[in-house]
Amino acid sequence: MKKGLFLGVALATSMLMSFGMAQAKTQFVTIGTGGITGVYYPTGGAIAKMVNKKKKEYGIRATVESTGGSVFNVNAVMNGDLEFGIVQSDRQYQAINGLAEWKDKGPQKDLRAVFSIHPEAVTLVAAVDAGIKDIKDLKGKKVNIGNPGSGQRQNAIDALEAVGINIDKDLQAESIKASEAASLLQDGRIDAFFYTVGHPSGAIKEATSGARKVRLATITGIDALLAKYPYYAKATIPISLYPGAQNDKDIETFGVKATLVTSAKVPDEVVYAITKEVFDNFDEFKKLHPAYATLTKKNMLEGLSAPIHPGAMKYYKEVGLMK
Ligand code: GLU
Repeated sequence: MKKGLFLGVALATSMLMSFGMAQAKTQFVTIGTGGITGVYYPTGGAIAKMVNKKKKEYGIRATVESTGGSVFNVNAVMNGDLEFGIVQSDRQYQAINGLAEWKDKGPQKDLRAVFSIHPEAVTLVAAVDAGIKDIKDLKGKKVNIGNPGSGQRQNAIDALEAVGINIDKDLQAESIKASEAASLLQDGRIDAFFYTVGHPSGAIKEATSGARKVRLATITGIDALLAKYPYYAKATIPISLYPGAQNDKDIETFGVKATLVTSAKVPDEVVYAITKEVFDNFDEFKKLHPAYATLTKKNMLEGLSAPIHPGAMKYYKEVGLMK
């Protein structure tokens, strides 16, 4: 009887121990993205999918969180609420250098780059009945420049300033999330909205397929802005991606890149595993979203301004992508 009890206890203890060990082995990591109708959200899902396939090998379980966007993601990665975040390349530059939203807090020294992803265009979506064809037509209009925490907010402010439009005096600026902007535009509650996003995206499809006629307005006359900031470049949005938009040619604007960032505090093996699974299975990854059409392994290492995380660097050296 005693022996049986002892054996039972021993068995239960060893089961508990091995269960405990299996638990300790699984590392849960969360990737901060953006609104669910953007491209960050499916991108977080695509990255998570690649690494979760090898859960048995790495013991990593990645999940995705919808967030307010780039600025939110940098801050959440820095304070340890998220392990990874998708962040505009311009915001990565500002965070590591202590500019824009990080002017008071100073350089975010622990920010680390992993790789860059799809190009993002500063997209100005406008109602045809509001008579907006170009950014300069926004004077006096009700315009969503984006929620604080989003990447697009500063892009909108920079572009408006570059064409001489003051957001406090010359228009009525709204600060709502991009995921809500399309329906507000369709309901006639705003005249236009800015969204820095990859194409095609659900948000722009939604905005251009309702009853109110909508076009993508050009952002021109910003050459001085492009010359001033290293992270901005000219970009074109192919109109073929949005059959519902009232445009007859591709749209001239400017843009940045989406990038994956993490913290110096995230273990090397976790960052290595994610990097390896995305790059080793590059062709499969590329098929997961049409916004990845122009991706190459090489251009996924461009547009990074924070130091590359040692876990990612280990992989790039192994495969000869970096020396
Ligand atoms: N670029 C946007 C931001 O940083 C997010 C775009 C997206 O979710 O695809 O807030």
